[in-house]
Amino acid sequence: MKYISTRGQAPELTFEEAMLTGLARDGGLYLPAEIPVMSQEEIAALAGLPYEEIAFSVMWPYVSGSFAKDEFKAIIARAYEGFGHDARAPLKQLNENHFLLELFHGPTLAFKDFAMQLIGQLFQVALKRRGERVTIVGATSGDTGSAAIEAFRGLDAVDVFILFPHGRVSEVQRRQMTTPADSNVHALAVDGDFDDCQAAVKDMFNDFEFRDGVKLAGVNSINFARVLAQVVYYFSAAASLGAPHRKVSFTVPTGNFGDIFAGYIAKCMGLPIDRLVVATNQNDILHRCLSGQGYFKGDTIPSISPSMDIQVSSNFERALYYAYGEDGSAVSQLMDELKNGGFNVSQGAMEALRENFDSGRVSEDETLATIKSALAHSAELVCPHTAVGIKVAEDHRAADVPMITLATAHPAKFPAAVEKASDVHPPLPSRMSDLYERPERVTRIANDLGAIEDHIKRHIAE
Ligand SMILES: *Cc1c(COP(=O)(O)O)cnc(C)c1O
Repeated sequence: MKYISTRGQAPELTFEEAMLTGLARDGGLYLPAEIPVMSQEEIAALAGLPYEEIAFSVMWPYVSGSFAKDEFKAIIARAYEGFGHDARAPLKQLNENHFLLELFHGPTLAFKDFAMQLIGQLFQVALKRRGERVTIVGATSGDTGSAAIEAFRGLDAVDVFILFPHGRVSEVQRRQMTTPADSNVHALAVDGDFDDCQAAVKDMFNDFEFRDGVKLAGVNSINFARVLAQVVYYFSAAASLGAPHRKVSFTVPTGNFGDIFAGYIAKCMGLPIDRLVVATNQNDILHRCLSGQGYFKGDTIPSISPSMDIQVSSNFERALYYAYGEDGSAVSQLMDELKNGGFNVSQGAMEALRENFDSGRVSEDETLATIKSALAHSAELVCPHTAVGIKVAEDHRAADVPMITLATAHPAKFPAAVEKASDVHPPLPSRMSDLYERPERVTRIANDLGAIEDHIKRHIAE
């Protein structure tokens, strides 16, 4: 499988190269040159299999040129062995025809562990074989950073630097990033918001001298390997509800559009998905765009679902690429317009987006009310991101199609909001109950590219 850039001006790469590179050199995002399709029989055969076997079947065509079969099976096994639930991604029923896909049983209690644990193992094997080391730099609104640190801590071929917005992540998220003692882990609290952190990472990738000097690698959700890992649970969930013989819909609490884009890939691979519903909080650029109002940046407003406090959704570029008929120069032009504030989506592309995606926006009060009602009516304590999803899902349900809402984080990761809504304090799982006692290690840093690059250069291992 070859990988191509959404902007059409970067060299084609193998899976391994695209994974180690992250952002393409033309500023675009890598995608497989064509999406492999699974037959009805192949999809039907997934029902009831262990998660790891489904993962192998779904991902193998994408990685086969870069890894050997047994090697890849062992990588998958190591990636998910630390999860706190044998099903990895269990499905729970919320009410009639509405299900929750619990994606928070990994080591940092959010769905990002699914991709990050896999990518950690993939990097390890690939870098060992090449005899190389890399510097991983990522921006996080909270969950990506902790998942990345957990996945890469202690690996000798990698230094990991995570930029997070100072004061804008929850205490659990911060502690998960600042308490690992491994010397290859570097947490940076940036004086800015998430979009500033994300912009700094993008700028570092576009600073080729720095990028080559420190052998920069990215594991943000722009990395296609992460999207790929997330495709798997769409298959596992749909197969357990009767796919390919029955359609299902998904509602996805959305920020950077990575998780829901994985659902779109699953659909392109032949999974019978009816609707993919984007659920946003008050930072609703995607909802506005899918409602026909264009894609224009606003200010990021901090919310109780901070992992979705995003105004520019980097993976949306991938959806635009397909909506514009795989026209890299059209995407390139839109991204230039975005630098000046935003763009309108052409009528044809809008129609293509609407064929697959719906959207909804949830206020802070509605989020709290949904946490309360999910507990009262279904005995489920949910995190605020999941609550955003549940509310939008309820508004978009069709009578005859099961709706699956992605439960993206454990409630204990966001205890303040959960307790405010429900009067219940969500306890951490016992395997991480000493988190509040561990010492923290973090560097506060100005929102300044030069200062950040300088810090990284001075702190990578020789
Ligand atoms: C990252 C995250 C999201 C948003 O996912 P995207 O792939 O960025 O759209 C939603 N909820 C939680 C808990 C997250 O950590």
